[in-house]
Amino acid sequence: LNYVPQTDPQVADALRQELSRQRGTIELIASENIVSPAVMEAMGTVLTNKYAEGYPGKRYYGGCEKVDIVENLAIERAKQLFGAEFANVQPHSGAQANYAAYAALIKPGDTVLGMSLDNGGHLTHGSKANFSGKLYNVIPYGLTADEQIDYDEMQRLAEQHRPQLIVAGASAYPRVIDFERIAAIARGVGALFMVDMAHIAGLVATGAHPSPVPHADVVTTTTHKTLRGPRGGLILTNSEELAKKLNSAVFPGSQGGPLMHVIAAKAVAFGEALQPSFSDYIARVVENCAAMGRGMTEGGLRLVTGGTDNHLCLVDLTPAGVTGKDAEKLLESVGLTVNKNTVPNEQLSPFVTSGIRVGTAAGTTRGFDADEFYQIGKFIAEAVFNAGNEAKLAEVKAGVDALIAAHPLYEGIEY
Ligand code: PLP
Repeated sequence: LNYVPQTDPQVADALRQELSRQRGTIELIASENIVSPAVMEAMGTVLTNKYAEGYPGKRYYGGCEKVDIVENLAIERAKQLFGAEFANVQPHSGAQANYAAYAALIKPGDTVLGMSLDNGGHLTHGSKANFSGKLYNVIPYGLTADEQIDYDEMQRLAEQHRPQLIVAGASAYPRVIDFERIAAIARGVGALFMVDMAHIAGLVATGAHPSPVPHADVVTTTTHKTLRGPRGGLILTNSEELAKKLNSAVFPGSQGGPLMHVIAAKAVAFGEALQPSFSDYIARVVENCAAMGRGMTEGGLRLVTGGTDNHLCLVDLTPAGVTGKDAEKLLESVGLTVNKNTVPNEQLSPFVTSGIRVGTAAGTTRGFDADEFYQIGKFIAEAVFNAGNEAKLAEVKAGVDALIAAHPLYEGIEY
């Protein structure tokens, strides 16, 4: 930092503390990642000064020729990365992308089938606390007894309720989603099909998870999870007609000026994701997650669905007799950052929960390998089975600290 400490010591101090927190803990929150210095640099540029309402070549402001270059690069790279005909890179976030996608596809009061929040769906897939549950008539679908997406139930609900839209995608589902099968269910009842691939976008980009793009009418995503870009949203489609509707639904429908500095960072991140090294990275994310899952299972914990196919494990803490809320705090005290999460058939409130969600996207970027993630899985189990045992927790913390010391973060960057 050059300027903030001089003009604003309070903010500078908080920034320093956050860098130090990120360095001093292992980030296991499945929706987070660690962006490259290039992505961060693009975000902190003069592009934040520019108003550019509209789209490249069709702006409502003068002086947009240079930001047009940036937005076109982001669009072309997103299309190439996901094999899509059209991309809108302007949504400020995943929730904004979903808002615009719904607005383009359906009207208020229409019926939507979405995965329920307590079975792994996202707030924007129909929670009553969110615009999606307030504007649309949402029918939730869930999981089978063995905790897999219940496609038969989805089919039955689709035939019964004849939705205008089926939404697939999840925030806490550790298995492959069969987009082709859901597309067939949607087509069978004349519904449109939207996929929110926010969590697995990095896996989709490299082929580590089957792509929804050939099957869905619209695909939305965040850019900051496994895709390892800046915080933001992205919308893809192969339909020219829908692309026009989506563009109008983003601007002027639900946003004003795009965040051009963030779009520059998206372009840089998409460029990184097109490199062969990103495929290696995602392969390691998946391998590491399986290893962490093994560590937790051998340590006595139960993984929802019995394992993982992707970047995250959903962990049922019932065997340890600890709530998600307490585990989150306990793990933080030994240097492991996780979030509490509901598990299927959850008996506790969403503020307490019986589970945690852990992922390997950030830790893999930091450089932890499969042996180290196996160890991290073991540490998680040891900590939650030894709540209150200060000596044991100190031992786990020493193990975590040794891993952290072996993988420094953002070397050369000083706040
Ligand atoms: N969609 C899914 C599946 C998510 O998991 C999330 C965030 O966790 C979002 C959308 C929302 O993204 P944002 O927080 O950028 O609004």
